[in-house]
Amino acid sequence: MIPQILKSILTVSIVSAAIGYIGFKATSKSFIEIFIISLIIQFIFFYFYNSIISYVTKLKLEKDNIEAIKLINTNNLIIECGACKKVNSVRIDLSTDNAFVCDHCKTENSINITYDTIVKTKIYE
Ligand SMILES: [Zn+2]
Repeated sequence: MIPQILKSILTVSIVSAAIGYIGFKATSKSFIEIFIISLIIQFIFFYFYNSIISYVTKLKLEKDNIEAIKLINTNNLIIECGACKKVNSVRIDLSTDNAFVCDHCKTENSINITYDTIVKTKIYE
């Protein structure tokens, strides 16, 4: 992190020095004056630039989190405990044998998943 900051400061200083030199040759202002103005402008620019980048990154992260939560929720099942009949929210993963411990009575349950098929009804107008 610190070498990155030093690198940024060095780059900004070199750019300011170049602008200061060109400004000094082209105008009647002193090198230091143009150098400092150029430094300030660059710091302000990068401050806003970084703010926008971090804002966009934050929005993207929040969007990804929402997507992840949605994905988790699509695989959740509200199911009764076999012992106490109270409902539990259980994550279903078809690649494992799905078992859960009841939140209420702590009984270990296995989930038996069965599939049925039905033909979709088509409505003709
Ligand atoms: Zn239970």
